[in-house]
Amino acid sequence: MPQPINKIFELSRSKAKEQTTFRNGTSISRSVLRSISEKGKEYGVESIKPFGTDKFEFGEWVGLKCRYGCSRFGTSWSCPPATPSSSQAREIVSEYSLALLLTGTQQCTNFYLNNNKTRGEQVRYWKGTVSIERQLLLQGYDKAFSLVAGSCSLCKECAYPEACRFPAEKRPTIESFAIDMIGTLKNLGIKTKVARDPKEPFKYYTMILLV
Ligand code: SF4
Repeated sequence: MPQPINKIFELSRSKAKEQTTFRNGTSISRSVLRSISEKGKEYGVESIKPFGTDKFEFGEWVGLKCRYGCSRFGTSWSCPPATPSSSQAREIVSEYSLALLLTGTQQCTNFYLNNNKTRGEQVRYWKGTVSIERQLLLQGYDKAFSLVAGSCSLCKECAYPEACRFPAEKRPTIESFAIDMIGTLKNLGIKTKVARDPKEPFKYYTMILLV
């Protein structure tokens, strides 16, 4: 059956989960994608790609990387163990049929240097993602929910375990949902590489679970 011209992404009925939201069907139109892309540009988001959630690749090993080897484990509301467990995360994602991949490019003088410029860029992408999520909510995508990259940088030091200072902006990281980012990008046919030089520009990915 041909796709309606205005729909740029629509799942087949068999892939679409039963909807209980304001929106009928599981699609995003060109006009909505255009308007959120415009909004994204204000925050350095270069592209927004819709995809079916069957393309998500999960891995329990992702949680290992959080638990062992990441200094943010147990220090941020956006990271484990403050975030949903991997089984809860899979359950949550299974309630969605469509997601968006937001991509930007970040370059800092040194990736490992936690200076104001690096943090400023992270905050910009973070706020951009949450702002697009809000715009989608206002357009009737009431299930829209962001998964962000890196640990929350909205505060220089996270208040965890004390109450979050900006709960309206707080979102979990992609990794905290046990999502294998590289595997997911491969499933989407997107080539990426590890930035070996701390000064090298690198891609920055965030996601919005949509419908
Ligand atoms: S807004 Fe501040 S307190 Fe809340 S999760 Fe982010 S860094 Fe932590």
